[in-house]
Amino acid sequence: MDAPGNAPADAPRKASGPAFKEKVFSGVQPTGNLHLGNYLGAITKFVDLQDRYECIYCVVDMHAITVWQDPQELTKAVREATAAFIACGIDPKKHIVFNQSQVAEHAELAWVFNCVARLGWMNRMTQFKEKTGKDRENASLGLYAYPSLMAADILVYRATLVPVGEDQKQHVELARDIAQKFNNDYAASIASRGFGEAFFPLPEPLIQGPATRVMSLRDGSKKMSKSDASDQSRINLTDDPETIALKIKRAKTDPEPLPTDEKALETRPEADNLVGIYAAVANKTKAEVLNEFGGAQFSIFKPALADLLVAKLSPITAEMRRLTDDTAYIDGVLADGSARAQVLAAETMKAVKDIVGFVRR
Ligand code: ATP
Ligand code: MG
Repeated sequence: MDAPGNAPADAPRKASGPAFKEKVFSGVQPTGNLHLGNYLGAITKFVDLQDRYECIYCVVDMHAITVWQDPQELTKAVREATAAFIACGIDPKKHIVFNQSQVAEHAELAWVFNCVARLGWMNRMTQFKEKTGKDRENASLGLYAYPSLMAADILVYRATLVPVGEDQKQHVELARDIAQKFNNDYAASIASRGFGEAFFPLPEPLIQGPATRVMSLRDGSKKMSKSDASDQSRINLTDDPETIALKIKRAKTDPEPLPTDEKALETRPEADNLVGIYAAVANKTKAEVLNEFGGAQFSIFKPALADLLVAKLSPITAEMRRLTDDTAYIDGVLADGSARAQVLAAETMKAVKDIVGFVRR
């Protein structure tokens, strides 16, 4: 595989070949409850990028069904994720907010990419290994092909920047490899149709800020996930203040007081995670948090962290609830966003069909 970009995350490298317009794409799965990891690792970044770029934010319902989803729950989760985007500050009028299944071009391009991506590349994807564990034979073909669909999600808009949490870095790098191989395999056809040296940009993962990998509250070696069986492992964006306080109180820690030196956190993953969450939410560095709480017991630090989280999340939770109840508004946002997304995606697919050699109307 290509070496991943090593430019600093806030100074994205230009895609090779012709200059592509900078454009942001990212997605969140409507699988269960959105949590603090999604919020700090992804959605707050989505919000920040709106001022500088044209952004497309997608509720990736087709990714969700790579593992079984109850249909009624899925519908609810799509609307809830959309409400979360808007409640966190994404503007669906200025940018595009939509659900993946309403733009069929994602699936269409994914098929072409299934024929570009190599089995050897897919076999290296750690998320598939982690999600299937010992039960690989029983996993869906969709779960295996997930990163190819993700490449299509990004590249059907020829997006250049992909804000994600640390866990998605490998998938964005795969999208780069797929784009590169498509550009190489079809180089002559791309050039003859006037697209120059490259049809697709090589998208760049944007993994920045203090909380790119929020860990489970029950196990400092596992990332916080929607799909974790234990609800105690995460703070959901729908949790009420009492639940947040209780989950933080019960969060796994060691018996030592907090250190004064950040270096000492390296061997204390649970303490490191809680300090990291505090820092990200308070917009401080971990060193600043330890300046304030170094030497304190968790019995002092945890209530302070819970108060901070409640102050930050309560207004978002209330707005999410209000919006989720307004089904007509949410469905309207998704219909409008899908229509706008489809115009862009259809243009890419026409060109891809010509490049590949499909006959079309
Ligand atoms: P699932 O367990 O079903 O895969 P998830 O919790 O990983 O769910 P996704 O919808 O897959 O959530 O991810 C949405 C975005 O949130 C991605 O950009 C992902 O990198 C980011 N993200 C997910 N978990 C974390 C986490 N623990 N810390 C930081 N970012 C995260
Ligand atoms: Mg995930």
